[in-house]
Amino acid sequence: MPELPEVETTRQGIKPYIQGSQIESTIIRQYQLRWPIPTDLATILYRQKIHQVNRRAKYILIQCDSGTLILHLGMSGSLRILETSSPAAKHDHVDICFVNGYTLRYTDPRRFGAILWTGDPVEQHDLIKNLGPEPLSEQFNSDYLLKRSQQRRCSIKTLIMNGKIVVGIGNIYANEALFMAKIYPLTPANKLSKEVICQLVDAIKDVLQQAISAGGTTLKDFKQSDGKPGYFSQQLNVYGKKGGHCPHCGASIKLIKEAQRATYFCPQCQK
Ligand SMILES: [Zn+2]
Repeated sequence: MPELPEVETTRQGIKPYIQGSQIESTIIRQYQLRWPIPTDLATILYRQKIHQVNRRAKYILIQCDSGTLILHLGMSGSLRILETSSPAAKHDHVDICFVNGYTLRYTDPRRFGAILWTGDPVEQHDLIKNLGPEPLSEQFNSDYLLKRSQQRRCSIKTLIMNGKIVVGIGNIYANEALFMAKIYPLTPANKLSKEVICQLVDAIKDVLQQAISAGGTTLKDFKQSDGKPGYFSQQLNVYGKKGGHCPHCGASIKLIKEAQRATYFCPQCQK
């Protein structure tokens, strides 16, 4: 599943090819995604110019003349830039073709993604308006997280995966950040000291930033007529490493389930 770093990498990958260009045509082969694509989307997008390609949480926001296209990659979605309109394969649901000759192609085998349109300011959209701060923004800092954690008895892992507290921290990066900050994942959020919260905020920013930087190396693959789009495998310390050795102390990595999510930790480093 694309996590925030993949979405950010995607945004950075497609932006140079579409920002400033005008939409020539939109081909929609499948309207049934997580929510139906608006039936008049091709008409709405016709001749619109792209002003910005932004991201909020895991939504890519393509700001056009009269509104914003909201894209979500769901479980298996991806975006690619094609140089010419090469034949569509089975799961290539949407092509947005630009006057500059490039085509933005949306592919999604499981169809849990979304392509929506709003003519209103996008920050007021139902999917966007209640989101917590961006993890890499200054708004997400230790004072903020301390204040939020003091009100909660849920585990710290559950807290940082709550999109109303902070967006875009999926299970992989929650596991990795807690390992980096040496915090036992099931620690009640309100039991953490300011110092530890501070370490956690730094770890979250580091782990996401490292993943985005690593993803940047795949950017060159974004413009391709076939093949797999830019998801990348991150250098992970604990996630998926049950029974493996902790890179810090050598202890065996443990796996437990919390809130039905796989939770990996080092029993020595994360007490
Ligand atoms: Zn360890």
